[in-house]
Amino acid sequence: MRFLRCKEISNKIRARVAIIGAGPAGLTAAGLLLCDGIEIDIFDMLPEPGGLMIFGIPEFRIPKSGVREGIKELKEKGINFYLNTKIGDSEDCNTSFEEIVSKYDALLLATGAWEPRKMNVDGEDLNGVYHAAPYIVNYYLVKLGYKNSSLLPSLGKSVAVIGGGLTAIDSAMVALESNAKEVYLVYRRTRKEAPAGEKEISSLEKKGVRIIEQKVPVKFVGEGGKLKYMVTVDLTLGPPDSTGRPSPIILPGTEKTFDVDSVIVAIGGKSTPPFKKNKLGIEVSEDGRILVDQKKRTNKVGIFAAGDVESGPSLIGPAVKSGMDAALSIKEFLISKKWK
Ligand SMILES: Cc1cc2nc3c(=O)[nH]c(=O)nc-3n(C[C@H](O)[C@H](O)[C@H](O)COP(=O)(O)OP(=O)(O)OC[C@H]3O[C@@H](n4cnc5c(N)ncnc54)[C@H](O)[C@@H]3O)c2cc1C
Repeated sequence: MRFLRCKEISNKIRARVAIIGAGPAGLTAAGLLLCDGIEIDIFDMLPEPGGLMIFGIPEFRIPKSGVREGIKELKEKGINFYLNTKIGDSEDCNTSFEEIVSKYDALLLATGAWEPRKMNVDGEDLNGVYHAAPYIVNYYLVKLGYKNSSLLPSLGKSVAVIGGGLTAIDSAMVALESNAKEVYLVYRRTRKEAPAGEKEISSLEKKGVRIIEQKVPVKFVGEGGKLKYMVTVDLTLGPPDSTGRPSPIILPGTEKTFDVDSVIVAIGGKSTPPFKKNKLGIEVSEDGRILVDQKKRTNKVGIFAAGDVESGPSLIGPAVKSGMDAALSIKEFLISKKWK
């Protein structure tokens, strides 16, 4: 996967740009900015650049070797990567957001959407109930040798994945790879409506995953802090909701227990800016997205945002496009020195 967007690097623009987040959006922007000789520092909290292309998406869909080659090229052409470096306000951060802002001519925020969306049902905090993005990132940190396997909780023999998107498919794959004997994909609509698409679902089915449609857990029940079973209800489909898909409606009196060793909740995520709300006046929406205009500009001069952190959870293609758009605007800003 090539991130560098030119054959020759010119020295057209003398400026320093920081990028927070080395996922597809940040790397694509870096590869375009580098073409004009801009000095680029990329900060990422993980031990290896690539974002979810390395720590989230399975090899069969995006081969890691291609991503690594593209990153190697960026490094060889002079981009500086500062890894294991979390930027922000929380206690586990190494560097404050203000410190980064003060040192560069422009800044691109490309920190993705890492906060899991919760089901908000009883027992969701039990041991054995995991949320997809954190569990999968942890899984790859162990698999790629960055973390000791003792730090990854075992999923056990039977695993239920809740959701119908690509993240749910990937969670089921992780469960299979972790040697679970029974893996269920529990989705509240029918498979026809699942965002992952029929091809992904039937391929999962061929690998032995049982697809359970029109069901949702309403409660997780544990013993001694550990999940024992979930209580599910059946659903029927009603009129289209705001997404245009039929709305799932609970059928009263259909509660059933469902024994599982663990559950992976894969129902989406929320954008994760590297600061708390309203930092330096940067506007963030109710659901956590950094607000930008068509040129990916935030409302703070010199600060741009791209990828899932401004769009909400999306896909690699749109994140790449967003990184390109942001880089073009950053170049325009560095040349003109004008903001609006
Ligand atoms: C499990 C899973 C499977 C998916 N499968 C697919 C798929 O098959 N196909 C597809 O097209 N899309 C898939 N997606 C979606 C896709 O991965 C994302 O839309 C895309 O990676 C977003 O790119 P990004 O650059 O905005 O963010 P990310 O790829 O999320 O990268 C953000 C980077 O920012 C870093 N970061 C975050 N906060 C900080 C901080 N405070 N300080 C420093 N660094 C920070 C992170 O470490 C990360 O490297 C999947 C998503 C998930 C969760």
